[in-house]
Amino acid sequence: MDESRPAPTITCVDCLGTCHLISFEPHEGWEPGDVLVYRCADCLDRWDLVWEPEADEAAD
Ligand SMILES: [Zn+2]
Repeated sequence: MDESRPAPTITCVDCLGTCHLISFEPHEGWEPGDVLVYRCADCLDRWDLVWEPEADEAAD
């Protein structure tokens, strides 16, 4: 339930393969705006995502 960490893997939108996070976690932990780099194990595409944790369950 730790939503302060990005997913270690995501699904490749091109080939539906598994993309692994290849960025190293900063010493102070991930912060919003950090760039997460994933590489697909199947098609070797690289995906750069900006880490923006969504607090959609905190709306109360
Ligand atoms: Zn792929």
